[in-house]
Amino acid sequence: MIKIKNLSKQFGKNEVLKDISLDIKTGEVVAIIGPSGSGKSTLLRCINNLETATKGEVWFKDQEVTGKKTDIQKIRTKIGMVFQHFHLFPHMTVLENVMYAPKTVNGLSSADAAAQAKELLSKVGLLEKADEYPARLSGGQKQRVAIARALAMKPEVMLFDEPTSALDPEMVKEVLDVMKSLAGSGMTMAIVTHEMGFAREVADRVLFLDEGKLVEDASPQEFFSSPKSERARAFLEKVL
Ligand code: ADP
Ligand code: MG
Repeated sequence: MIKIKNLSKQFGKNEVLKDISLDIKTGEVVAIIGPSGSGKSTLLRCINNLETATKGEVWFKDQEVTGKKTDIQKIRTKIGMVFQHFHLFPHMTVLENVMYAPKTVNGLSSADAAAQAKELLSKVGLLEKADEYPARLSGGQKQRVAIARALAMKPEVMLFDEPTSALDPEMVKEVLDVMKSLAGSGMTMAIVTHEMGFAREVADRVLFLDEGKLVEDASPQEFFSSPKSERARAFLEKVL
């Protein structure tokens, strides 16, 4: 579904991604792990061209994301993204948040958008909050709304950038549970996370980044029990 070929990204003289190549297959769940500043967010953002690659190519199915003539807006509707800090629309209710993009981008009728939004809210366990404003929700609830909102565009792949890092500990599980059930439904997912237990349990593959390099690309079993690189070993010693 996603193919990255020799991707490099520089901010000025700072090369933050160095010659990265990887594939994400349909239905695969990939955890992206690594120290702070190693380039995880930048890598994720290059997938939908929120950051533009300096060198190399990114492909989404048969379309080149990095191509000059590509309609990136159209591709972005197929790639859902969830951030650490939710980014809900504060002046809209929960239901309106989830209805907004399908209505404005895809031209769904209000009735259809509302019906779909309710279905998604019930999937993430928040139907009873449909008419609340985001400010009245807990962090875990906000993040579940953000996931429902991303799903409303019927994405083919979901990108998560540390979706639980801003949450109080007691709210982490409710969000991970939603992500786990999404993974179980066959969604293709790339997840930047510090939740090692979740990565081990849910991911099909672990990518370990360090200083902009893809240092390991392994199964969770391999990665967590016998990491090949010294850097991954040192990282795991600190976080496990
Ligand atoms: P991670 O998500 O692994 O913590 P990031 O991808 O956010 O790492 O950042 C990788 C490196 O790129 C860091 O050194 C960071 O300071 C730098 N960086 C990220 N975004 C920008 C930007 N918009 N402008 C300049 N430097 C940036
Ligand atoms: Mg980051």
